[in-house]
Amino acid sequence: MSIKKIPTTISGSLPKPFWLAESAKLWGKWKLKGKELELAKFDAMKIVVSDQLQAGISIITDGEQTREHFVTTFIEHLSGVDFKKRKIMRIRDRYDASVPVVTNKIVRKKSVFVNDAKLLRSLTKLPIKFTLPGPMTMVDTLYDDYYKSREKLAWRFAEVLNDEAKELSKAGVDIIQFDEPAFNVFFDEVKDWGIDTLERATKNIISKTAVHICYGYGIEANINWKNSLGKEWRQYENVFPLLSKSKINQISLECINSKVPMELISLLKGKDILVGAIDVGTNKVETPREVANVLKKALKYTNFKHLYASTNCGLVTFSREVANAKLKALVEGANLFSKELS
Ligand SMILES: [Zn+2]
Repeated sequence: MSIKKIPTTISGSLPKPFWLAESAKLWGKWKLKGKELELAKFDAMKIVVSDQLQAGISIITDGEQTREHFVTTFIEHLSGVDFKKRKIMRIRDRYDASVPVVTNKIVRKKSVFVNDAKLLRSLTKLPIKFTLPGPMTMVDTLYDDYYKSREKLAWRFAEVLNDEAKELSKAGVDIIQFDEPAFNVFFDEVKDWGIDTLERATKNIISKTAVHICYGYGIEANINWKNSLGKEWRQYENVFPLLSKSKINQISLECINSKVPMELISLLKGKDILVGAIDVGTNKVETPREVANVLKKALKYTNFKHLYASTNCGLVTFSREVANAKLKALVEGANLFSKELS
């Protein structure tokens, strides 16, 4: 029996062209406005789709070309949040950030990313994935002056996300991924309402659903945090048993160059495992052998049919050359390991 190839995908962002936004930077500001900005975003999406196809990636994303920030761009399209009023708040229990303020009931007046999803759908026949922020991470990126309860605000976001996800699903998106880095921090809340609100966000969606939980982009605050976590990072141990009981289909996690014990994957029986095999904290491009070795270790704790090769987090902070080289290494590593298995 011949073994099929391990599918490859990325967890989210790719670098933006220099003419669209400040490049190789987290949350780089747009360089254009109005109609020009809209056209440029679509052009950028065409480039990143082409780059992924060129590299041989099997599940294609928009590389988050139409958003400045993985959380707040979605929120900008909702009413109830005042972006002019800002507060300094400790986020992820780790660093202070200037965040917008919830001042009224959250309402999604119209779809946010559906046109982007339709364009992505038109650019490839391969399966496509679209990312949305998760309810808990949204709550943890805002100052709430209205609901006065993280849980209540999360339930409201879950309803709004669900409306968006249903439309993305109808637009032909195969996988909808929710980004929940906050799940690695607030374990009591994950148990009390984090999983429930995430499931609410995915209610009645035809597409497959995924959740991405990482240790963040390679910024200083995250690097310092990781250095404080000791020899073994066991954060996933709190969350995975709960996720395994949920209806979420796929879990995207950080593996390469992290101190996550691989055996924690066995807590996710029956789920697709999107193994992070590309480090987003270093410009050094992985070799296919290094990628294959991570997949090999992961396979000890899951079935081949559930194994996917992915990135630890988004690649937005890299130059396009480095990001493309990393995409290529991901595909070559997955192919190398598939070949060895067959
Ligand atoms: Zn991430």
